[in-house]
Amino acid sequence: MNSYRAPIEDLRFLVFDVLGLPESLPAGDALDRELIGQVIEEAGRFCAGVLAPLNASGDREACTLADGEVRTPQGFPAAYKAYCDGGWAALACDPELGGQGLPIVLRAALDEMMAASNHAFTMYPGLAHGAYEALRHHGSDALKARFLPNIVSGEWLATMCLTEPQAGSDLGQIRTMAQPRADGSWSITGTKIFISGGEHDLTENIVHLVLARTPDAPPGTRGLSLFVAPKHLDDGRRSDPRNAIRCEGLEHKMGIRASATCVMRFEQAQGWMIGEPHRGLAAMFLMMNAARLHVGMQGLGHAEAALQLARAYAAERRQGRAGAGAGPDLLSAHPSVQRLIADQRALVEGGRALALWTAYQIDVAETSGDAEARQRADALLALLTPVVKAFLTELGSECADRALQVFGGYGFMVETGVEQHLRDARIARIYEGTNEIQALDLLRRKVLGDGGATLARFVEEMRASADAAPGEASTRADSTRALADELLGLSQWLGTESADDAMLPARVAGEFLRLTGLAALAMMWLKIEAAAARRADDEPMARSKRALSMHYFDYVLPQAHACAAIVRNARTPTDTVFAGEP
Ligand SMILES: Cc1cc2nc3c(=O)[nH]c(=O)nc-3n(C[C@H](O)[C@H](O)[C@H](O)COP(=O)(O)OP(=O)(O)OC[C@H]3O[C@@H](n4cnc5c(N)ncnc54)[C@H](O)[C@@H]3O)c2cc1C
Repeated sequence: MNSYRAPIEDLRFLVFDVLGLPESLPAGDALDRELIGQVIEEAGRFCAGVLAPLNASGDREACTLADGEVRTPQGFPAAYKAYCDGGWAALACDPELGGQGLPIVLRAALDEMMAASNHAFTMYPGLAHGAYEALRHHGSDALKARFLPNIVSGEWLATMCLTEPQAGSDLGQIRTMAQPRADGSWSITGTKIFISGGEHDLTENIVHLVLARTPDAPPGTRGLSLFVAPKHLDDGRRSDPRNAIRCEGLEHKMGIRASATCVMRFEQAQGWMIGEPHRGLAAMFLMMNAARLHVGMQGLGHAEAALQLARAYAAERRQGRAGAGAGPDLLSAHPSVQRLIADQRALVEGGRALALWTAYQIDVAETSGDAEARQRADALLALLTPVVKAFLTELGSECADRALQVFGGYGFMVETGVEQHLRDARIARIYEGTNEIQALDLLRRKVLGDGGATLARFVEEMRASADAAPGEASTRADSTRALADELLGLSQWLGTESADDAMLPARVAGEFLRLTGLAALAMMWLKIEAAAARRADDEPMARSKRALSMHYFDYVLPQAHACAAIVRNARTPTDTVFAGEP
């Protein structure tokens, strides 16, 4: 079933009314409101019209491998050409490199709509932006000139080659080796697994970013260096010599089946180092942060698309009696179904606001002339990147699951399309750093690591949103202030307790991340209410936003108290459960 409708109205409301684009951006003078509106609408048309129709067929057909060449499903090469011709690859890239220089906020909006329409397709261009960032910030001038223009135009796609059979979350175990060559380049040898888009037929050349060890490298992550190794050498054309990089196998997967997940063998492949020796992980992290926001948008995209299916179904299926009437009533009239849908809407619309506000911090951090504003945006971005990645990808699975429930038995059938969202959404919680790793990054590194200084900036932002909330939202503003106090108090308590119980943060990092996500959505709902209050009272958008905000605070936000209670209760080490077992 292909019925995806891009959430244009909501995106316009968030971008213009909540974020205040273009005036609120440091480089806003150069942007015009009409252009931003057109970009959002065109992006929606491309996703709904070109990508969504290939979603179910791509899932059925999947990719095939013959003689080392991967064929993507029918329609994918043409859709990728349309993506490049439409300028979508270059949307938020530097104009000096052929990009359009538009805000990252718009890139994030595009990412959500692409994932909602066809997650598997997004896997091909998905890592290009991260490769662009890693090369732009760490590559030599020669590497930038050779690779960046082709990545920006979309002519070449990129991969991220980290994972090996023995090295998943723990990249310190990577064994791929890089030996120096006389001409200053390197010979890379090793096997990488689970590589998205490692081989395909969408572009002439594929640019692999590879983590490997030099012969003098110390053990662990401190010994890793980053290399770029193209599929075709010289000018990167199909007729140019092939580098010694081969796809040895395709994984058969539970979801995103139209995305080629490859086993890649590098056999003395020629590569060039990006940045300093042994500083590869730092360069790769730049790529991963961009990728983590992108993965958060995948979760949001599934949540939105599954919600649309559930709402449409509930509005046409009649079962049972919802009230005193004769029945049978529409599913949408039953309070329990209404709950399933309303909770999802409050989470999706709040989640979209949070994701775009986080992307907006990248725009401020990169372009503001004010050092204090840049520093503040950087701090908020650092704190919220793992939250957006993990909270929104959990949301993707949760919403797809609830949407399937609205369909009853029909949801279990392939034809309705909702089960594909449940399958496809699942991977986003695993790759780009599993959600457990995100939670540890948030609590150990970003919150406890700096004694709560970054968290304090976020809490200030929560309080400022409560102070700016309209009068009718005063109870919700009070709840948000109380939650801000709870977050700070809890982090201080964890800091003190972990002095005696070092494993405590690791036991409760998941709850702490969920609590932060729920608190961030409370803040966003207050920002949304403030924007809605500036519109006429009876405007449908203003009314709907107010009602959803109330629903969020009444039915969803109380989960935050359960998270806080679990954190404070978690005194008993988890290994006591296993004590005495053989
Ligand atoms: C479809 C797909 C596409 C992928 N694409 C790419 C790609 O393009 N490039 C690439 O390099 N990789 C890619 N990956 C690999 C992906 O990033 C890894 O699967 C992921 O990092 C987890 O590693 P692992 O599978 O080895 O799991 P493990 O690291 O073995 O983890 C297993 C479980 O243990 C938990 N765990 C592990 N270590 C810790 C810890 N320190 N603290 C707490 N919990 C922990 C994890 O959260 C997880 O629940 C892809 C994977 C898939 C399935």
